[in-house]
Amino acid sequence: MKCSNGDDFSQGHLTPFGKIELSPSAGILNYGQGIFEGLKAIRTKDGRIQLFRPEENALRMKMGAERLCMPSPSTHQFLDALKQTVLANKRWVPPQGKGSLYIRPLLFGSGPVLGLGPAPEYTFLVYATPVGSYHKCGATMNLYIENEVRRAIPGGTGGIKSITNYSPVFEVVKKARAKGFTDVLFLDAATGKNIEEASLFNIFFVKDNVILTPPANGTILPGITRKSIIEIARDLNYLVKERDVPLEDVLAADEVFCTGTAVEVTAVASITYQDKRIEYKTGEETVFHKLRAVLKEIQTGVVEDKMGWTMLID
Ligand code: PMP
Repeated sequence: MKCSNGDDFSQGHLTPFGKIELSPSAGILNYGQGIFEGLKAIRTKDGRIQLFRPEENALRMKMGAERLCMPSPSTHQFLDALKQTVLANKRWVPPQGKGSLYIRPLLFGSGPVLGLGPAPEYTFLVYATPVGSYHKCGATMNLYIENEVRRAIPGGTGGIKSITNYSPVFEVVKKARAKGFTDVLFLDAATGKNIEEASLFNIFFVKDNVILTPPANGTILPGITRKSIIEIARDLNYLVKERDVPLEDVLAADEVFCTGTAVEVTAVASITYQDKRIEYKTGEETVFHKLRAVLKEIQTGVVEDKMGWTMLID
């Protein structure tokens, strides 16, 4: 789907997965003007195909597009492109419990631009690929607090899914993985004292049944899984505080878990800061376990979706 300066996005069309042609001076190649989204189409227990809160992805893409001076497709166009892509690939949606069809919407400056500024033309496209579970069932994470590299600065683009947010963290994640960690947790740039999030997921801490998570104030990505877990926890009468989480809270927590479309809701078994390793509860009795079970039941159509979060598309 394309859009030139000032116009709306035109009607899109389906094409087989393949190469796309770009000018060497395309806005995305020269100035990184682009954002993306990530969702999963899964099979319900009845074998139907379902998306989870796709309007939230449409909204997040719209906000990101505004920040990067790009036009965005309407919510209707966004959802229609998702539906068409999934329906054309429905034989690739695995049976329930065997993974999902990962959907990647991309919006970027495809028109040529040499002087610094927004591109004159934009492309919105959606592709899909089947994926297994990010982690083996029952797997937990071991995280490392990164003390030097910051993921996002106040006033920067940490709060949107800008393409340019991701490659700057490759190096530290690679080093952490080489040491046996699953991923890194980033500290805030303003004070270097508060936990923000990981390279691809949000983080929650539980102490005496109270749930803490860093506030989505512009430097962390407002995750859709994060938002859903907060709503589920409040619905189950847990106290959820969205506030700064300094290192003292990391030391004191009983349990820690992370949330994201790719990682779903996964328990964190340990966090290492400098030479100190802190271990957390991950068993069946945890708050994490209860919250994950409710979200999974909604996402897989095992219970009635009172929240109206799911969208059946086939
Ligand atoms: N933080 C970052 C940096 C991410 O890239 C993602 C993945 N979109 C998340 C958090 C989790 O967001 P969501 O739950 O919407 O997938």
